[in-house]
Amino acid sequence: MERLWSPWRARYIASGVDAQRDECVLCLIAKHTEDDEKNFILHRAQHGFVVLNIYPYISGHLMIVPYLHTSEFGSMPKEITDELMDLTKRSQTALRDVYSPAGFNMGMNLGAAAGAGIVDHLHIHLLPRWAGDTNFMTPVAETRVLPEDLETTYSKLRPKFSRG
Ligand SMILES: [Zn+2]
Repeated sequence: MERLWSPWRARYIASGVDAQRDECVLCLIAKHTEDDEKNFILHRAQHGFVVLNIYPYISGHLMIVPYLHTSEFGSMPKEITDELMDLTKRSQTALRDVYSPAGFNMGMNLGAAAGAGIVDHLHIHLLPRWAGDTNFMTPVAETRVLPEDLETTYSKLRPKFSRG
């Protein structure tokens, strides 16, 4: 009944991306357009894309990612950051439509000291939140219990991005 996170670890590996492990995983999934569904990419735009976090803190945990491989937000071209914001707005609307959360967290972790998991390729996190939702997370790494699998989340959210 409960799903533990550990069995899901090999997500990107299933897409054949494992052969080039030393490459940035966000660049890899950006490059493998034929694997968008396997990699849970919900939407592609000109400068970036929206993807499910395969290690979500909560169901509906999205990442908005520029194609540009950089850790420097301050010097990113305006057309890219503008589009990232547009994609974030669109993602929030999609999450609101599907999950009706009570709140959201959105933000970036820049640098390892700030908690970035993928340090060299910045990305925006967007998470739906509910009062008391931390009850189903454990503080023990790799054993977060998820209420919904990634395929289900993807199938719910994907139609919200299908236009344009
Ligand atoms: Zn990258």
